Amino acid sequence: MDFTLTPEVDALRASIRKFVDDRLIPLEADGANYDAHENIAPGVLARLRGEARAQGLWALQMPVARGGRGLKLAEMAPCYEEMNRSIFGPVVFNSAAPDDGNMMVLERVGTEAQKARWLQPIIDGAVSSSFAMTEPMDDAGEGCGSDPALTYTKATRTNTGWRIHGRKWFITGADAARHFMLIARTSDDERKGLSAFVFDAGQPGWRIVRRIPIMGPEEHGGHCEMEFDGLEIPDENRLMEVGDGLKLTQIRLGPARLTHCMRWTGLARRALEIAMDHANKRRSGTGRLIERESVQALLGQAGMEIQTGRLLTMHAAWKLDQGDFARKEVSMAKVVVADALHRAADTALQLMGARGYSKDTPVEWIYRYARQARLVDGASEVHRMVLANFMRREGTAFFGWDAHG
Ligand SMILES: Cc1cc2nc3c(=O)[nH]c(=O)nc-3n(C[C@H](O)[C@H](O)[C@H](O)COP(=O)(O)OP(=O)(O)OC[C@H]3O[C@@H](n4cnc5c(N)ncnc54)[C@H](O)[C@@H]3O)c2cc1C
Repeated sequence: MDFTLTPEVDALRASIRKFVDDRLIPLEADGANYDAHENIAPGVLARLRGEARAQGLWALQMPVARGGRGLKLAEMAPCYEEMNRSIFGPVVFNSAAPDDGNMMVLERVGTEAQKARWLQPIIDGAVSSSFAMTEPMDDAGEGCGSDPALTYTKATRTNTGWRIHGRKWFITGADAARHFMLIARTSDDERKGLSAFVFDAGQPGWRIVRRIPIMGPEEHGGHCEMEFDGLEIPDENRLMEVGDGLKLTQIRLGPARLTHCMRWTGLARRALEIAMDHANKRRSGTGRLIERESVQALLGQAGMEIQTGRLLTMHAAWKLDQGDFARKEVSMAKVVVADALHRAADTALQLMGARGYSKDTPVEWIYRYARQARLVDGASEVHRMVLANFMRREGTAFFGWDAHG
């Protein structure tokens, strides 16, 4: 494995860095640039999306023929990392979750007709999208979460398609999304019991019950609870085959988890940059804070953890680019990068003292946001369990090398 960037990818990375430094980071200090949920305000977002697109810094993950830049995952990693050095970054470049993961899976599994109807408008930035899988727990303790086998939202066959009854929650972006992907139960089969569908927000038979208040800043459209009470979905809006819902989810989650890691690495780096700046300036006794060994130990540890997560991310990206599912590698990257983000945000906040706890810098924003990283797209405990199961199955092969020939 050689993670050296090609001149083209490095130039793209540098352009994104410049855009983030010049156009996004300066906006963060002014409250007028935020919406009511601590994200970039819609008008400001529209303007900056236009600028990013005009510079070709748009939908890097999508094929050139569809208006993107056709990057492989290992090429996306350095670019996504640069994007999220600003808390406003990814959405400006059309690389934020959940659109990012939704676009990648639709490109992978959709028919040409489905791509034209459901994918292209997301790439064009004309609509946003949501992925609806997780369910609130019912009285019996059931409901899709870490265990998709507990899914109770049902899709029942009709003459022309499917009728949906059930509930979903924590659906990111649902209050603003036009295109929804939905996972529902179509049979009791253990492996083939779930199927995937797409529907439009304008269809009747569903509603948003509430936008769930959360501890951190929110993606546009929030995190919503949804109720399905007879939503009709024509069969042509089923993705893949009946029973392939879990398969689609796995196809989506590999790259989607990894692009989270890429973005979080950038966010972690930013937190450390702010802390380094502070530690360099702040007087401590006759010197500066940065000269204190205990401060250096904190910064060195945080930097090392970011680099560890970054290497795991690149390895997983490289494997996915070879056509591997990279389940082990993605799980390792997800756990380590989520922890690295926590460490970096906590270190930054600590070293900045009271200023870190204030809203004068984005560090407290990053600190609150970071907490979800250990939960979303698989809790860390579940990823560790997945890894342990691989070790049990593979034995010494778990630590096997990738060898030529
Ligand atoms: C900010 C945010 C955004 C989200 N966006 C979306 C979205 O867009 N679409 C969507 O479908 N979902 C979304 N989710 C839901 C998220 O994917 C789930 O929260 C996650 O899968 C965990 O499911 P759960 O909350 O039901 O927790 P549970 O499954 O109830 O698990 C609770 C805890 O139990 C432990 N645990 C669970 N299983 C095991 C195990 N096997 N071994 C050991 N420990 C275990 C873990 O510590 C876990 O955190 C979002 C969640 C958050 C917080």
